[in-house]
Amino acid sequence: GRSVHQIQSGQVIVDLQSVCKELVENSIDAGATSIEVRFKNNGLDTIEVQDNGGGIAPADYDTIALKHYTSKLSTYDDLSSLKTFGFRGEALSSLCALSKFHIVTARASDGPKGTKLDFEQSGKLKGTSVVAARQGTIVVVETLFYNLPVRRKELEKNIKREYNKVLALLNAYACISVGVKFSVTNLMPKGKKTIAFSTNANPSTRGNISNVYGAKTIAALIPLDLDFRMDPSNRPGATQSAKNSSPQEDSGSRKVRVVGHISRPVVGEGRQTPDRQMFFVNSRPCNLPQVAKAFNEVYKSYNITQSPFIFADIQLDTEAYDVNVSPDKRTIMLHDQTALLERVKESLAELFAGHDQ
Ligand code: ADP
Ligand code: MG
Repeated sequence: GRSVHQIQSGQVIVDLQSVCKELVENSIDAGATSIEVRFKNNGLDTIEVQDNGGGIAPADYDTIALKHYTSKLSTYDDLSSLKTFGFRGEALSSLCALSKFHIVTARASDGPKGTKLDFEQSGKLKGTSVVAARQGTIVVVETLFYNLPVRRKELEKNIKREYNKVLALLNAYACISVGVKFSVTNLMPKGKKTIAFSTNANPSTRGNISNVYGAKTIAALIPLDLDFRMDPSNRPGATQSAKNSSPQEDSGSRKVRVVGHISRPVVGEGRQTPDRQMFFVNSRPCNLPQVAKAFNEVYKSYNITQSPFIFADIQLDTEAYDVNVSPDKRTIMLHDQTALLERVKESLAELFAGHDQ
């Protein structure tokens, strides 16, 4: 039967996309400036993520894949000012439960040698061996869901769509990660290795988008830069208590910036750029259907029917949203969302009005 550990793991790792999300975020958290994602057979056979980050300390080998182990959170207070992606220590432990999983890791002081770590399904360290390695960490996920036949079948059936979903997410990480070189490849059985895309360690998101979508795409985009403040006392439902709170709190309107690159508000422009829309909150790729809708509504008011290219990073206080609402952390709850979206639409319309068409 399925263990509780397997069932809970299946809520963090729901598909190919969540595997890649967790591993790439771990690499970014480890300070990597180079991240290579290698699929075999669209990820059905293996998913490997290699980085050149700080590596794993020998003292952590035993605990790294145990449930709720994390090296990233030292006090509860850290939660609100969290700078790292990870903080719950569930990804590696879940991958142990749901795949044939191992890690190779090497720290700067290890020279040309690294350590291969093998784990039991429970996440307990099974054994270590010395292997040749470059500085950084390689995480290898083999035969995802091998022990959950229904999920595995589902994955095999939908692999084309799953693989495209993964690429879209990796595109988003590659475009937002300034100074990080990305490469994504896929090796089909008996086929040749194809490069899905790659970026250089560009100093700007502009350079990243150019690498992923081409120089023509970036040339057709205009800079997005919205800047406004949100008054917390406007929040529906936050009435008396907010108004009666201390003066510092009351005057504490929140600064919001929305930065990125978007299609011009010009009819026919959509044909110049790929149909892609990427949204981020504080540089974290996330699903924001309501934000997407707000952007698209403004474009529609310019009679633009083709889907515009949108790359938008919403930068705001960490207290203004909640990440910790779904196990996969992709669903973000923006507080004051209705008011925020109104301000986004207003400022976007202003930006367009000021734009020389
Ligand atoms: P979390 O990211 O929430 O801490 P994970 O299960 O994703 O939990 O990872 C557990 C721990 O493993 C991390 O806290 C980190 O110490 C270590 N780790 C995972 N991936 C890497 C990596 N690529 N490089 C260095 N350390 C890593
Ligand atoms: Mg993590």
